[in-house]
Amino acid sequence: MARYTDSVCRQCRREGAKLFLKGDRCYSEKCAMTLRHTPPGMHGQGRRKQSEYGIQLREKQKVRRAYGIMEGQFHQYYLTASNMKGVTGENMLQLLERRLDNVCYRLNFGESRPMARQMVTHGHILVNGKKVDIASYELKVGDVISVKEKSRQIPAFAALREQGAKRTVPEWLELDAENLSGKVVALPKREDIDLTIEEHLIVEFYSR
Ligand code: SF4
Repeated sequence: MARYTDSVCRQCRREGAKLFLKGDRCYSEKCAMTLRHTPPGMHGQGRRKQSEYGIQLREKQKVRRAYGIMEGQFHQYYLTASNMKGVTGENMLQLLERRLDNVCYRLNFGESRPMARQMVTHGHILVNGKKVDIASYELKVGDVISVKEKSRQIPAFAALREQGAKRTVPEWLELDAENLSGKVVALPKREDIDLTIEEHLIVEFYSR
């Protein structure tokens, strides 16, 4: 599977927004967006005013990078969302939120989405008692996500059990930190998504 291998902070600088890809560092003064928030590259500061297409493209790239998804799969989310009832942009965000790696991040099973994804792909996560190592696995209401018994000694999980969640868990999820498990109690609503996103720009980008 193709992977992005460049500096992750560079992605935030490129999109001009904090994408929270590095865990605790993102909330500290060491965050590259606090130190320097011009786009990367020698011409970063001198970029001209963006076209309508450029604005739509940047919004799409921002969300794609925040969730750590390659272009083909991201476009597929748009196609699926546009075939669902309701507002395409909101459907798309809901599908992204319901991914197993994102839910593990929301439940504080990983400090960042990339770290949560690693927990999933390395086989530490169970869904309804069965191992699922597919980061894009789509969760539904009622699903129970937990940490495999043998993996509970991993420092990140042990810290969660001892100290509780560092980040607020959204209302559509329920966390039992002591037992390292969580449950999807509702579908995510638009207001549950904390990133600043103008999803209509993404829809406009793909409908051109
Ligand atoms: Fe780097 Fe996190 Fe700051 Fe983004 S938010 S620039 S990933 S430290």
